[in-house]
Amino acid sequence: MAYLGNPKETIAILQKYNFNFQKKFGQNFLIDTHVLDKIIDNAHITGDDFVLEIGPGIGTMTQYLCERARKVAAVEIDKNLIPILEHTLSEYNNIEIIHNDILKMDIAALVREKNGGMPIKVAANLPYYITTPIIMELFESHVPIDSITIMVQKEVADRMQALPGSKDYGALSLAVQYYAKPEIVANVPPNCFMPRPKVGSAVIRLCRYENPPVYVEDEKLMFQVIRASFNQRRKTLANGLSNSGDIHLDKELIQECIQSLGVSAAVRGETLTLQQFATLSNIIKSKI
Ligand code: SAM
Repeated sequence: MAYLGNPKETIAILQKYNFNFQKKFGQNFLIDTHVLDKIIDNAHITGDDFVLEIGPGIGTMTQYLCERARKVAAVEIDKNLIPILEHTLSEYNNIEIIHNDILKMDIAALVREKNGGMPIKVAANLPYYITTPIIMELFESHVPIDSITIMVQKEVADRMQALPGSKDYGALSLAVQYYAKPEIVANVPPNCFMPRPKVGSAVIRLCRYENPPVYVEDEKLMFQVIRASFNQRRKTLANGLSNSGDIHLDKELIQECIQSLGVSAAVRGETLTLQQFATLSNIIKSKI
């Protein structure tokens, strides 16, 4: 079977199977070998690894993954792609094609069953509509993961990597940076895909921390504090927190908690670091 990561082979497969792209599944297939090499090299996959690929499409990246990894499980939602994958990946005996919606799967159970609960690597050219939910699910459900190397919208990659004070900084930046070290490894223009998406993309590698970089007594509370701070971006942090339905403290007490961080009670949430959000949530926890 020829490698698929170019327009000629991709079109040949699509025509052979009379495949129609489904917009609702975010189908933009990669047709550039340089980009594929970049993803694979940055995913640091070795012959010991179990790789979960989300949305294999026609199997373009899956071919590369199968050649490097010990075992690959590829989860694809579109039933019309399953016979295509069975054909394009027929030469590999280390692939398992799973027809399912990744958002409905118990990924921790999959890892227990298929990899004895040992950490896996995740690689994907993600459908844009599931980027944030799938990343949060992978982190929050404590699936054992070593790293996630994914193609996402450029704007989303920038948000994951953003630091305080930047316009891109927000709840997603803090959530990602609590669990992993993000690094954008490539910017990818629309012409590397078929069909072309409207926006630019980027490959980002999220290298999971063994232990989070900050100490948090109650993760759920910290994320409530973070969400409340960014929900009302143009308000002060004190107003954001006291308007939140999740944090049951009156405004004066909230102002005191903020001041004990050593910052003004009139500060905006977007200026606080992850460490400050962790400390603030620990202080709030001690008052409720
Ligand atoms: N990996 C292929 C490539 O790079 O050419 C395809 C990438 S395309 C951006 C996204 C793929 O994810 C499509 O094949 C799409 O059908 C699949 N997909 C979309 N939603 C999904 C879901 N909820 N669960 C599993 N796969 C999904």
